[in-house]
Amino acid sequence: MKAITITQFFQQFPSDQACLDHLFNVRFGQDHTCPKCERAAKWYKIKAERAYSCQWCGHHLHPTVGTLFEKSRTSLQLWFYAIYLFTTSRHGVPAKELERQLGVTYKTAWRMGHEIRKHMDLVDGEPPLSGDVEADETYVGGKKKGKRGRGAGGKTVVFGMMERNGDVMTKVVPDAKTKTIEPEILENVEAGSTVHTDEWHAYKGLSNKGYNHETVQHGAGEYARGNIHVNSLEGYWSRLKESIHGTHIHVSGKHLEKYTKEFEYRYNSRKNPEKMFPELISSYPEQQNEG
Ligand SMILES: [Zn+2]
Repeated sequence: MKAITITQFFQQFPSDQACLDHLFNVRFGQDHTCPKCERAAKWYKIKAERAYSCQWCGHHLHPTVGTLFEKSRTSLQLWFYAIYLFTTSRHGVPAKELERQLGVTYKTAWRMGHEIRKHMDLVDGEPPLSGDVEADETYVGGKKKGKRGRGAGGKTVVFGMMERNGDVMTKVVPDAKTKTIEPEILENVEAGSTVHTDEWHAYKGLSNKGYNHETVQHGAGEYARGNIHVNSLEGYWSRLKESIHGTHIHVSGKHLEKYTKEFEYRYNSRKNPEKMFPELISSYPEQQNEG
């Protein structure tokens, strides 16, 4: 499978109607049982509304309700195209670039970008990690050199866990204390897994919490002992920082998590990057149950 080209994009989605039909088909589809009259129904598009009507009782289904498109007056085709741009660029799309390419205001472009990042996070999900898992924190942004564990110097702390050859999971956290870090591991890494960390004290309790805990002594200049290391995650951190600084002029601590989640989704899709676009326009984990 290959990523679709721009020509294929416009063949598949020549209009807003085509995008709405796609949404209707992935969420409901023809013969969908009407929630009101409870019969399998043919559904007819209502003119000038983002809705389809039941052939029997006239009940309406709204395929954009509960999706990232719901509260937006921007056309669905522009939304789909913005998602397409996000999945075909390696480092994401700055708001300025979206503004230029879509011909929308900067404010709209900025909001679309954030909605798309949020959607990527939801579609990515958070399946538990197991096997060999590396855990580490990093410090992003700020002017002064921050001290570890304090988030000093205006830096934002990002905590991460990475299953070797598997998924990564990252989160912006208030600090790197045991009470902050340890619950994240307990919640997201299966018991019995081997957790690789450096000697930071927040990780010290792991061997009493059902994990095999392996430590490298970074302070003593040790970066790997056999397969014990956090090098995969450290490589991930440096690519994350390069990507954020290369694409966006400034990312505030408040919004950093959205960018880290976007990067995480890209990384977790690395074996099949061509599936990102179809997946993003066909999965709506934010939707409410109908009716
Ligand atoms: Zn009906």
